[in-house]
Amino acid sequence: MYKGGYAGKILRIDLSKQSAKEETLPEELAKNYLGGAGFGIKYLYDEVKPDTPALDKANKLIFAVGPLTATGASCSSRMAVVARSPLTGAVGMALAGGQFPAEMKRAGYDMIIIEGKAEKPAYVAINDGEVKFRSAEKLSGMMTTDTQLFIKEELGDHNYRIACIGPAGEKVVPMACIVNERRAAGRKGLGAVMGSKNLKAIAVRGHKRPDIADAESFRKARQAMNKAMKDSPVLYPHFAKAGTPMVVDAMTEMGIYSIKNWSATGQINMVPGLGLKAQDEMIITRSHCHDCPVGCSQVKLVTSGPYAGYLSEGPEFETTYSLGSTVGVDYLPAVIAADRLCDEYGIDTISAGVAIGWAMELYEKGILTKKDTDGIDLKFGNHAAVIEMLRKIAYQEGLGALLGQGTKKAAEKIGKGTGDYAMQIKGLELPAYDVRGAKAHGLNYATSYTGADHNRGYAFQEIFDIPIPEKVDRNATKGKGRLTKWNQDTRAVTCDCATMCAFLLDMAVPAIACQNTADLVNAASGMNFTAEDIEKIGERLNNVARLFNIGAGFSRKDDTFPRRLMTEPIKAGASKGQLISQKDLDEMLDEYYAERGWDKNGTPTAAKLKELGIK
Ligand code: SF4
Repeated sequence: MYKGGYAGKILRIDLSKQSAKEETLPEELAKNYLGGAGFGIKYLYDEVKPDTPALDKANKLIFAVGPLTATGASCSSRMAVVARSPLTGAVGMALAGGQFPAEMKRAGYDMIIIEGKAEKPAYVAINDGEVKFRSAEKLSGMMTTDTQLFIKEELGDHNYRIACIGPAGEKVVPMACIVNERRAAGRKGLGAVMGSKNLKAIAVRGHKRPDIADAESFRKARQAMNKAMKDSPVLYPHFAKAGTPMVVDAMTEMGIYSIKNWSATGQINMVPGLGLKAQDEMIITRSHCHDCPVGCSQVKLVTSGPYAGYLSEGPEFETTYSLGSTVGVDYLPAVIAADRLCDEYGIDTISAGVAIGWAMELYEKGILTKKDTDGIDLKFGNHAAVIEMLRKIAYQEGLGALLGQGTKKAAEKIGKGTGDYAMQIKGLELPAYDVRGAKAHGLNYATSYTGADHNRGYAFQEIFDIPIPEKVDRNATKGKGRLTKWNQDTRAVTCDCATMCAFLLDMAVPAIACQNTADLVNAASGMNFTAEDIEKIGERLNNVARLFNIGAGFSRKDDTFPRRLMTEPIKAGASKGQLISQKDLDEMLDEYYAERGWDKNGTPTAAKLKELGIK
């Protein structure tokens, strides 16, 4: 039985009945799924039928933290938010850092399960186990920053931490996100699920600290992790100063920074406008997630020009792509403004930007005209058009209402072969890495249970040249099945279930990730995991998520790429000539499924499920 680490309780909230009840956190759940995404996806699998419409009140919205949250372990800052995704129809899982996750644990809970639908707009305030349902009618249409301020004022305590939706979530835009402070559980439209439940926000406040079962062992495990962080040649020397924007320069050099809806990768140098130096000049301060000594986040302020006064915690690397390079914009002040507006409306920067980039390509090809865009000149590089399209997506106006459905559904509506240019997999828009020149990244995008999601199995080996578990050639296809399984399983457990920041795995502790997670969790909880047990939890999670998706109708046919990536080689730069042909993809999938113990169609075999103890 766990003796520490966990709060030991699940809070189940029924919005239809305005009721809340506590359940004991089952020991078996902790043992088999550890926390965070493991908890959320296991409950989704057990309690939500996979064909449940994502915006139906029978869908559940689950917030879950891990056994290290609020223990003082470095970078134990994240929470997982889980529901069936309205954007993809698959498992929707997004992580967010900030301060909300630790406060949720201190309020007494490892997991909060939201069920049903409030009759009128509402928010829930949770204070040390006391749950209050409050009207959110006054907050209707309010941006996310004002929403958080308003609720703190109304509750009379500015120490509440709040996860909320903006206007896009209220309007159930399928790419809406959930924002706490300026951190977002951004992808897969979980803000729309929250909006469909008439839930504007959850506010948490707590004063408890999780017990630590063995303080001395915990201190030693923390020290080992902090040493690995200190010894990393990347984490403090580069990443702590530059944050994720450092990757803009690196990806440009490697020729895999995606540009103009992936039509011009390697052809245009965006570094002068969006790269490290340009970003550095705009920083006014830095910020840290809870218990993070790194503090990679940068707050940037625009001080002159048409966007003067816009301030954003970002843009992160991915946002410089989605609201910058893929829409052909290399004017950083505009990207900062667009990033801030996405946070305020509560929309995912990646899906929104990629959808706009796709519409820009269709406009330049003459498939969309000014009649379709309400007169907007939607050509690549027009940053004012990007800003206006974001507003239209958030408020479901004109073309924005279509783009907000995601590029997959929008292409199905428009037809005319536009799906060939829709940069999505399983309905989720692609992140920045042009996978034609980074094949393990590609295989991860194709097979991730959430759709095209760099976070589910990020191939840091291809990006930072770290030879763990082995050295890789980013352009090779052979061996990428084995590597992708390792990346997905390791990341699933050490980041998504343990709810630790993913950058640690990528840059500091890959060699000791599973052992160090076992040491930390054992010391905090008094449980007895080996490194192998920990890796198995990651594998179990990827299998349960796959089963949910199979129930929702997904199979091998969905583990694929947009046609562009399989037929158009990268035209210029260091990755010139690279693509992933259908043959390459088939070979990588065969290897990946075999490594996973899945059949040729990507279905887990009975033997694999038995081995993992999944019923
Ligand atoms: S490294 Fe960055 S993202 Fe990770 S916990 Fe620290 S501040 Fe947050």
